[in-house]
Amino acid sequence: MPTTDYLVSIGLEVHVQLKTQSKMFCSCPVRFGEAPNTLVCPICLGLPGALPKLNAGAIEMTVLAGQLLGCSTPEVVKWDRKNYFYADMPKNYQLSQYDLPLCLGGEVPLYELAYPKDAQKSIVHPGKVVRLTRIHLEEDVAKSTHHATYTLVDFNRSGTALMEIVSEPELESAEETVAYLNSLRQILVYSGVSDADMEKGQLRCDVNVSVRPKGQEKLGTKIELKNLNSISAVRRALNYEIDRQIGEVEAGRPIQQATWRWNDEVGQTEPMRSKEDAHDYRYFPEPDLLPVRTAPFVERARAIRPELPHEKVARFEASYQISHYDASVLAADRALADWFEQAVQGSTAPKKVANWVINNLLAELNARSIGIADCPVSPTTLAALVELVESGKVSNNQGKEIFALLFERPQDSPEVIAKELGFEPADSSEIEAIIDEVIASNAGPVAEVMGGNEKAANFLVGQVMKRSKGKANPKQVTEMILLRLRPS
Ligand code: ZN
Ligand code: MN
Repeated sequence: MPTTDYLVSIGLEVHVQLKTQSKMFCSCPVRFGEAPNTLVCPICLGLPGALPKLNAGAIEMTVLAGQLLGCSTPEVVKWDRKNYFYADMPKNYQLSQYDLPLCLGGEVPLYELAYPKDAQKSIVHPGKVVRLTRIHLEEDVAKSTHHATYTLVDFNRSGTALMEIVSEPELESAEETVAYLNSLRQILVYSGVSDADMEKGQLRCDVNVSVRPKGQEKLGTKIELKNLNSISAVRRALNYEIDRQIGEVEAGRPIQQATWRWNDEVGQTEPMRSKEDAHDYRYFPEPDLLPVRTAPFVERARAIRPELPHEKVARFEASYQISHYDASVLAADRALADWFEQAVQGSTAPKKVANWVINNLLAELNARSIGIADCPVSPTTLAALVELVESGKVSNNQGKEIFALLFERPQDSPEVIAKELGFEPADSSEIEAIIDEVIASNAGPVAEVMGGNEKAANFLVGQVMKRSKGKANPKQVTEMILLRLRPS
């Protein structure tokens, strides 16, 4: 039976490391790449009797993320002990939030450009929004590194502020899941609460996936997938697992609820442990921390709330008369969006500036493998170049030559480079003379234009451009020719 006879339901639990200076319940610094077990104290080592203290910055960041995702925040929240035993957590409980988390509800919009490139032309549910169940704030555990006969534990990560974002099982394909992760990442990076880099472990996700025959309302039995270390691995793992589950159901073997892991080298999912029921973690309120009134945090988050990617797209479309696609490309990266807005300041041709940024600047940055933050050319310099081209002082092709040189000589103005290259606009009497010649020697096209076919003027413009050796401005030449030939 083809896969179209089955419905797929995917839900995610995403853990995101917050960009706080210090840990969640102690004042140890949060830094990566330090020698193991050097950023620790009795609290984050979980020594008996150590008392936790709350990091207000982490609460503020979580509430801000919640505001951006449309969550509500209960008036009072509290922390709970989630009890279980593992070597990376010696106190035998994780400080987390149970019934009163910082954020409830909310949603993640799936941005078009967040889908895998090859799937952007065939989006099944354009404009889809995925609902969130909750976001809570907890502490990270230590990092274990498993070797053949022993395991090493590094507590530098232990106690780092971790936001857990839980979605409803509303994603219906591997491609939607990729879009969800990329869109969520984009919003988190925009708000500055996390760098959310999956490769660095700053964003980690567990994926629940189930299949069921079309028409069946009750969700199928879910498998939880672990060990997904990149967004492309999430896509591969899900496509493999969806096919596998459908195969099992087809063969009459019911799915058993369990945790599986993705083996990226082999390219398949493998059973890890069975899971009869939800774990009983015996949550109970943390007696060493007082509940927190959230009103001041909500107020502050409202005050510093940044514009979201899709809000920026809408504003760019309206303010600069650029297409939805172009606006989305520019808004995908907050730094790029800011760069563009600086370039467009006071420009008379914002649409042209957008074209130059998307078609030329991004290509050049790409070729040099650098980001917009390291772009040697300043926004005002690009704006000056666009102005130079739009005013007709240099042609479009000459503009591109200047642009290429600007990357080598970012201190020089486009005007200076234009002069050096001899890109002086031909004076109009010279151009008039060339137009006279061209009109005299092309009776056919001239007659067509005079008969009302303005498109035929393109050929004449081309001839003028050729004879002027590219010095003439095609737009001006077109106007000059039409002025002379257009039937009145
Ligand atoms: Zn500590
Ligand atoms: Mn968690």
